[in-house]
Amino acid sequence: PPAIRKISEKHDKVFVTGCLEPDTSKPRANAAFVVLARNKELDGVIESIKSIERHFNRWYHYPYVFLNDGDFNQTFMDTVQKYTSGTVEFGKVGEEMWGYPDWIDPKVAKEGVNKQGDNAIMYGGMESYHFMCRFYSGHFYKHHLLEKYEWYWRLEPEIKYFCDITYDPFLAMIENNKTYGFTIAVKELRETVPNIFRYASAYRRLNNLTSQGLWEMFVEPQPDKGPEESSSSSGRPAEIDPEAMEGEKYNMCHFWSNFEIARLDFFRSKEYEDFFQMMDRSGGFWMERWGDAPIHSLAAGALLAPRDIHYFRDFGYRHTTIQHCPANAPARQLPRQPYLEMTTVDERKRQLEDQYWEDFDPPKENGVGCRCR
Ligand code: GDP
Ligand code: MN
Repeated sequence: PPAIRKISEKHDKVFVTGCLEPDTSKPRANAAFVVLARNKELDGVIESIKSIERHFNRWYHYPYVFLNDGDFNQTFMDTVQKYTSGTVEFGKVGEEMWGYPDWIDPKVAKEGVNKQGDNAIMYGGMESYHFMCRFYSGHFYKHHLLEKYEWYWRLEPEIKYFCDITYDPFLAMIENNKTYGFTIAVKELRETVPNIFRYASAYRRLNNLTSQGLWEMFVEPQPDKGPEESSSSSGRPAEIDPEAMEGEKYNMCHFWSNFEIARLDFFRSKEYEDFFQMMDRSGGFWMERWGDAPIHSLAAGALLAPRDIHYFRDFGYRHTTIQHCPANAPARQLPRQPYLEMTTVDERKRQLEDQYWEDFDPPKENGVGCRCR
């Protein structure tokens, strides 16, 4: 019947025709799952592997790269091998990518970390957490086990996918010329990044970067000024006045990086390297507790355009207490699903979503695309 044909053109055939295996005939992308973990996280790692295998990788068999600043023990490696359907490599993160860099006095850095502990900043007093954030900000994509790959999909312990993913997101991103994919955007804890935005803004200024439309996603909207105040003291309109720009405030929004699918050459670019170097040298990974999520996001804001970003709105995904659900319950199909589920939704972000992110073609609209279990 015509009605059904119409749906099947627009939606994922696997769901429309039912009980079909996804089409895996196209060659795989040059891609791998990347998991940083410790031996003690084995149970959580297996939970995550079971979930991604059940909902995606049992059809696609992408390889995995496990990284650790310590050595994985035999139990960890044997158990992981039992649950993965793709090839697996285990690697160590060397000292050049972990711990304090040689240009900082470790005593000073450690004092900075301890102070954050005293101030009860989340993970602020935990040295290893700072190491992890800096590793994911400026190093993982240079690890020798990732050298051969062009794309990665980040996994963490204790995450859950709850919809089948019946197409290859790497290929979809390649076909649609995307660079960075996310499922959840949330607000950062302000006290972990008091100065991050000043440095990111300075990077843009020093490199004469103009917004390609994404930077605004991270800028706190200023209350509307009256016509009197709409230009600054220089007489220039506020939006082109560098002094006014300096006053821009971070709205704390960032792509939540425990899920990421991205092109590694974005991180390997000279621009990203310069960005990381500048952020790193500021000391913010030690004197504050900068996460890799706001670092990745602000770099994307500085260097990419909305068309480079893909919002995986069709992925059911949960990490700890925050999840994104494609909202497949019939009652929730209309009106258009909110941009963020269980997260800080505000109207501006919804507007941004509408103007920024188109679904892939063929899209998997609410409900039709999600077999949740
Ligand atoms: P949260 O998600 O921000 O609460 O942070 P997690 O504790 O989940 O850490 C983020 C990721 O880094 C997870 O994949 C952890 O397994 C990993 N990770 C965190 N700290 C360390 C560490 O000291 N060593 C190793 N090898 N992995 C770590
Ligand atoms: Mn985590």
